[in-house]
Amino acid sequence: MTASHASRLVLPGELLGTAEEFVPGHGTYEEQGRVYAALLGSTHVDANDRSVSVRAVHAIPHLGEGDLVYARVDELKSQMAIVTLLSDASTNRAVPGTPEATIHISKAKEGYTDSLNEAFSTGDIVLAKVLQAQPTVKLTTAPASLGVVAARCHSCHGILAGGDRGLHCPRCGATETRKMSHSYGTLHAPLKARAPGGHHAGSH
Ligand SMILES: [Zn+2]
Repeated sequence: MTASHASRLVLPGELLGTAEEFVPGHGTYEEQGRVYAALLGSTHVDANDRSVSVRAVHAIPHLGEGDLVYARVDELKSQMAIVTLLSDASTNRAVPGTPEATIHISKAKEGYTDSLNEAFSTGDIVLAKVLQAQPTVKLTTAPASLGVVAARCHSCHGILAGGDRGLHCPRCGATETRKMSHSYGTLHAPLKARAPGGHHAGSH
């Protein structure tokens, strides 16, 4: 244990460390060898098994129809996107239980969508609205305010910058297309990789 393992408050998408340092536990996810917070909460490192977990600050009792949520795109199938619910967008509280949801291809954007690859890419963070909360969670990103709010470049994994004509990569110049939310870019800070192991003043 070092001072860097002291509990701290983290945002969804915030880098916790590398997979060599930590075993991803509850409330985290691993992507390309790095472990990230899946929800807003406080970090806990188990010194015995090196697992890192994030405990929700406040869990919401349940999701309701019409609620806005942040979710991460995990898998694109021909007819639907499989996503992990990260948090309630209005309260930023973690979504409890088994936080999996789907976005049907007809609900990804307005009009006909030939392939979900036009709308999303794996790893994207989307702002979505709950169409159905039980027995499974179904979401829509069709309205203009909804859709992808943070995405990474396919070529270099840099954070894509938003613009009127779509997304571009400031690092390598690639352009990409998504079903973007009007609030694209609001999650840039927590998605950015931070150097792990920084000391956190004030923790005990
Ligand atoms: Zn790039």
